[in-house]
Amino acid sequence: HPHLKKVTTLPKAQYGGRHAVTMLPGGGIGPELMSYVKEVFKYGGVPVDFEIIQIDPTSESNEDLEYAITSIRRNGVGIKGNIETRSLDTGVISRNVAIRNQLDLFVNVVHCKSYPGVTGQHKNVDIVIVRQNTEGEYAMLEHESTPGVVESMKVITTQNSERVARYAFEYARKNNRKKVTTVHKANIMKLSDGLFLETSRNVAKDYPEIQHNDMIIDNCCMQLVSNPHQFEVMIMPNLYGAIVSNVICGLIGGAGLLSGRNFGDYYAVFEPGTRNTGTAIAGKNIANPIAMLNASIDMLYYLGLKSHADVITLAINKTLNEDLVHTPDLKGTASSLDVVQTIIKHVQNLSVNCKKK
Ligand code: ATP
Repeated sequence: HPHLKKVTTLPKAQYGGRHAVTMLPGGGIGPELMSYVKEVFKYGGVPVDFEIIQIDPTSESNEDLEYAITSIRRNGVGIKGNIETRSLDTGVISRNVAIRNQLDLFVNVVHCKSYPGVTGQHKNVDIVIVRQNTEGEYAMLEHESTPGVVESMKVITTQNSERVARYAFEYARKNNRKKVTTVHKANIMKLSDGLFLETSRNVAKDYPEIQHNDMIIDNCCMQLVSNPHQFEVMIMPNLYGAIVSNVICGLIGGAGLLSGRNFGDYYAVFEPGTRNTGTAIAGKNIANPIAMLNASIDMLYYLGLKSHADVITLAINKTLNEDLVHTPDLKGTASSLDVVQTIIKHVQNLSVNCKKK
């Protein structure tokens, strides 16, 4: 509809000053991580109500999924864990991909910033990954053309390459970052990655104050592990983004720390940055609660609840950098609950101080 194009953001659902947000706990450690978010929000007095939707991973029907998507459309905002797809039936698609595609969440942003108190392979890393989130290798167009021969289509479009590049350059401009790097394999995939690269070069022309370079994905992986400090903002197609975000998260503390943000023109969905299910560590009180809490903080900033977000951010920084209360994935001995309780203690102290002022 031509008039719809003019709307940039729909109002988010809000009732009597409270925000409504769709919560999809997903599988593995998702439900326990969500319970920590709710607990921290309770002590932080956060005015958010969750509409919780469980998606059954064994189900062949997409009824839950459709309901979840409707709910995000209605609320405008969602927070999610990783939703498992156990069925190998080719008719049952990944629910995670379906959500991103149906809501046109064309960009995924993972801000990979080191915590001074967490020892990783590298210190002081501060890279923003801007990943195309809906096409490329995730087009889910695969078929067996003849027995023993499978073809899989990688789809790159000018429109989506441009949207993601523009997002990255706008981000750099707003956040005072001086350099954007496009990651690709255009020497081999000349048409697809070639278009992605060419589009980002064209967009770069509109941002003369920002340096733009490009790097082939294989060299990029080597550069990342040897000298990650050369990168500020990175743009890349979908699959490289999945791999590179895991590489960088691994460099600075693993899957349990960082969050990822998914944006389209109308909706936003927040989740842990590396999108793990963590089935093997579920129910053991050892999963790191930080990644999902960071996702919830991203969501609070997005909703404009800045003071609540600031308090929880400070509480996490104190817990990780000063108290050094770390779960086993960070080589600590604390349980998930130890971390959450320490955060809550800080949230309570910080909130009291805010009120005194
Ligand atoms: P599974 O979901 O069956 O565990 P997997 O081996 O692919 O499958 P992922 O869920 O992808 O594991 O997670 C990758 C690794 O990161 C695992 O070792 C997992 O335990 C770890 N991990 C993921 N999330 C967290 C977290 N929040 N805290 C601690 N470790 C985590």
